[in-house]
Amino acid sequence: MTISETTPVTLESVPPALRAMVRGAVHGLGDAGYATPGFNLAVTRTPCAVVDVADTDDVAAVIRYAGDAGLKVAVFATGHGGVEVGPDTILIRTAALDTCEIDPAGRTARIGAGVRVQTVLDAAAPHGLAMVCGSSTTVGVVGFLTGAGIGPLVRTLGSSAAYVRSVRVVTGDGAVKEASAQVNPELFWGLRGGKATLGIITEVVVDLLPISDIYGGALYFDGTDAAALLRAWRDWASDLPREAGTSAALLQLPEMPGVPPILAGKLTLAVRFATTADPDTGAQLLAPMRAAATPLLDAVAPLPYAAIGAIHADPPVPMPAHEGTTLLRDLADGTIDAIVAATGPGSGSPLIVVELRQLGGAFADEPAVRSALCHRDAAFNLHSVGVLAPPIAELVVSTNSALIAAVEPWSTGTSLPNFSASADPAVIRACYDDDTYAWLAALAAQLDPRGVLDTGQVVR
Ligand SMILES: Cc1cc2nc3c(=O)[nH]c(=O)nc-3n(C[C@H](O)[C@H](O)[C@H](O)COP(=O)(O)OP(=O)(O)OC[C@H]3O[C@@H](n4cnc5c(N)ncnc54)[C@H](O)[C@@H]3O)c2cc1C
Repeated sequence: MTISETTPVTLESVPPALRAMVRGAVHGLGDAGYATPGFNLAVTRTPCAVVDVADTDDVAAVIRYAGDAGLKVAVFATGHGGVEVGPDTILIRTAALDTCEIDPAGRTARIGAGVRVQTVLDAAAPHGLAMVCGSSTTVGVVGFLTGAGIGPLVRTLGSSAAYVRSVRVVTGDGAVKEASAQVNPELFWGLRGGKATLGIITEVVVDLLPISDIYGGALYFDGTDAAALLRAWRDWASDLPREAGTSAALLQLPEMPGVPPILAGKLTLAVRFATTADPDTGAQLLAPMRAAATPLLDAVAPLPYAAIGAIHADPPVPMPAHEGTTLLRDLADGTIDAIVAATGPGSGSPLIVVELRQLGGAFADEPAVRSALCHRDAAFNLHSVGVLAPPIAELVVSTNSALIAAVEPWSTGTSLPNFSASADPAVIRACYDDDTYAWLAALAAQLDPRGVLDTGQVVR
């Protein structure tokens, strides 16, 4: 018998019941700590309670209570990839799980679920070590890793999932488990790529690499001739060795602090570049792209690894964002023309970022310890972002849709979980191949028989 069959569960009853069970603070509707605005301000969260978990036991207690009460549990770290949370759900916030311990001799980092990537980079850098991370260093480490994570060096180092050594997780049945290649290997497989499908992670141990400096940054070109520049970028990128990676982004940046005035208020094309090669070799590799046109701004230089976030210069401030995404098998002239027609000069597109990340290289390699990351054969990741601000909100949504429809002939019809923050089953389905999807669903049914974690971006 569940609690809900004996005692009615209401918005008023859940917070007091949880307060008696956990060490962390519990917030109900109307409490000062209840509001949970994340990075994406377009996502609304109206849970029946918010719990600032203090430790793994708190997570287990919340999950068990929710199972008994017929409620769901969702997890929040920074809100970079969140989806709507409703009143049938308890929201776990992980900010207090702030462990960040570097073991320089073992070259590992033990990282709590509330820690952001930049914290790890700053802690590891004095030891000459680096965590394999993504473009934005303000995202949560664990949220990033549950989506398997790709970054500016993905062609060189592969997905970040490959560097996870072990995980502590609470599964949907409330059990606390360790997972690694040796212990609970199926769970370990599914946690790296399956987002929160199989559990709420409280801590990870990741391998660090002995990287102090890289050569990287971005060349910013005027976007007027985006079609020709994107062709030049595609041809140049196709010759890059796997020691180097690149992405190209059509940008329409507003005038705001942090945006160089020369880039603000106009369409530009950013060619991002990162390599673990020495600066001379890096400069040689980049030379053809530097010569393709005169950049408005050349911001590629030797870079401390801890400053890797400067390559994409993702916006640090929260915004109401709407995204589009798909993987591409090819970047033909037709693909470029379709992208430019939908979002390039004269298109009227309100999108602030339309980004193509080159994949291949180490991304395509089958890792020694397999993860639930799929679609390794894709050639490019297309990702677009607009700001849902009146009066352009509707145009943002329609332009994202039109862009994804326009590239359909070259699309794989699939996508990566970290670029697919959505509870829409069709969007989630596109992140996995048939076997991976079926296996994740089977594991979830086994580990979460009451469907406590069946909310948001999860496979069921
Ligand atoms: C500006 C920007 C740049 C980005 N760049 C990259 C990039 O280069 N590469 C890349 O791979 N991704 C990138 N992302 C996507 C990002 O990695 C994902 O959105 C990730 O989910 C963010 O995690 P979070 O914890 O910060 O966000 P949240 O919104 O707090 O969490 C998002 C989701 O992560 C999962 N999650 C979070 N914490 C836990 C936990 N403790 N246990 C289990 N699951 C958990 C859950 O599914 C949760 O719903 C970017 C996103 C943004 C907004």
